[in-house]
Amino acid sequence: MTIPDPVPPSSSLAALEARLAQDLAYLGWPARSWMPPRQAADGDTMIDVAIVGGGQAGLAAWVALAQLGIRAVIFDRSPAGSEGPWATTARMETLRSPKELTGPALGLPALTFRAWFEAQFGLEAWTAMDKIPRLQWMDYLVWYRRVMNVDVRNGMAVTAVQPLPDATGVRLELRSSDGERSSVLARRLVLATGRDGLGGPAVPAFVNALPRSKWAHSSDEMDYGKLKGLRVGVIGAGSSAMDSAATALEAGAHSVELLIRRADLPRVNKGKGAGVPGLTQGHYDLPDELKWRIRHYINVLNVPPPHGSTLRVSRHPNAFFNFGCPVLSVEPRGEGMVVSTPKGDFEFDFLIVSTGFKVDWPNRPEFAAIAPHVRTWKDRFTPAPGDEDQELSDSPDLGPAFEFKERSPGECPGLARIHCFCYPAALSHGTVSGDIPAISDGARRLAGGIASLFYREDFDQHWAYLQEFAEPELFGDEWTPALPPKERNGEETEP
Ligand SMILES: Cc1cc2nc3c(=O)[nH]c(=O)nc-3n(C[C@H](O)[C@H](O)[C@H](O)COP(=O)(O)OP(=O)(O)OC[C@H]3O[C@@H](n4cnc5c(N)ncnc54)[C@H](O)[C@@H]3O)c2cc1C
Repeated sequence: MTIPDPVPPSSSLAALEARLAQDLAYLGWPARSWMPPRQAADGDTMIDVAIVGGGQAGLAAWVALAQLGIRAVIFDRSPAGSEGPWATTARMETLRSPKELTGPALGLPALTFRAWFEAQFGLEAWTAMDKIPRLQWMDYLVWYRRVMNVDVRNGMAVTAVQPLPDATGVRLELRSSDGERSSVLARRLVLATGRDGLGGPAVPAFVNALPRSKWAHSSDEMDYGKLKGLRVGVIGAGSSAMDSAATALEAGAHSVELLIRRADLPRVNKGKGAGVPGLTQGHYDLPDELKWRIRHYINVLNVPPPHGSTLRVSRHPNAFFNFGCPVLSVEPRGEGMVVSTPKGDFEFDFLIVSTGFKVDWPNRPEFAAIAPHVRTWKDRFTPAPGDEDQELSDSPDLGPAFEFKERSPGECPGLARIHCFCYPAALSHGTVSGDIPAISDGARRLAGGIASLFYREDFDQHWAYLQEFAEPELFGDEWTPALPPKERNGEETEP
């Protein structure tokens, strides 16, 4: 028998989309809807699930819910195609992750970045590519949204979330990009709000000495063209510090001094080493001490900036890596500033702080109604002396479906209807709620947990439906009941 040659891979996006559509049909997509429609006490219609955030986490959550027959609506304040950092505040040339990761594809080969890329550029280009160009990742997410028919309402900022007093749902206040206000009710709310999802940039106090026009956080939207000819200081040496430094240098900065607290750069990405399926699936079930141990270890050892991003800075002769330089003080001087460190004083015209993000509820007025009631790890766990970690202490203490818990039971009924599917979930669940490597696993866990909660909550309706369910499989005419053996044709049957 001769085995036929494999069908040559198609090179067109249209063919890929046809293949994806067929895969989805094979898998019974879209899934049958099974949720009883719900109305609020005042008769208003309720969305089953509202998702705040249409980045990769929100998209994956939407698709995972849809795979289970649960309708969701995403609200994102950004214009379509600008969700997340990729096309706005991110400044790296390529993604930091390896290109092979399957990200939000949820087990569908035809939905992977690689399938999308190869369909347009071919296998040779895929093989030649080192890492995924940043803007191409955004293009892929735009395509993902289109082919999966994700319901994203762009230009819609969620300005307030409030659990209903009877704990049956959550009210969202919205403001559209043209200033129109509205509100919607949802039975459950997913916060897919990103790396700074419950806060914002972590800004060191020393910048308070400076006028706002003289400094930026690395995550700020900013035209780096304005740094041309300036002496720029960059605080930090993580990935975003490198990206900011490189962008400033490429924009024609006179010089960039990186002020690095440590005596050296970390060399090993422990987060990458930790990322095994056991952690992805099992972190949630670890004892508190072990969850803390692993997250704290990764935090303390710090993630190195990517090789390519570091070279992108160091290839400039006017880039300076200053180690052992924690900032002691900052003082304005003339049009610029003086930054004092143990290694001496530096004069800058502009300062960029690349100091990461933190849980910072006051920075998120939309969560003001729930913030005081959210139970955090500091309410639950006291680390061993020496293992204190502000980021971890401030992390929310989440239930198995990423749901918030109340600080004390009964103080905010309905809080558990809000699911935290953003970076601060990492201590409770592992890094499954934002980063590319395990976003599909996180989305599946979230969707499965929500389906289970809905089923329990609607059990009476499902029970009533089951009792009324009368769809026959047999009609009673498929057989004839047999006569007792003795009566058949008057024949006697031998025992
Ligand atoms: C610069 C940078 C580079 C990164 N590079 C990588 C990488 O290479 N590999 C990797 O695995 N991870 C990377 N990450 C980490 C992570 O993958 C990204 O942060 C990613 O964007 C997370 O996706 P997300 O959907 O959780 O959040 P986001 O993509 O940030 O999306 C959140 C969305 O929520 C919306 N939103 C927030 N609040 C509201 C509100 N109140 N109302 C309406 N909309 C709201 C925002 O507009 C935004 O579009 C990077 C992060 C950054 C910041």
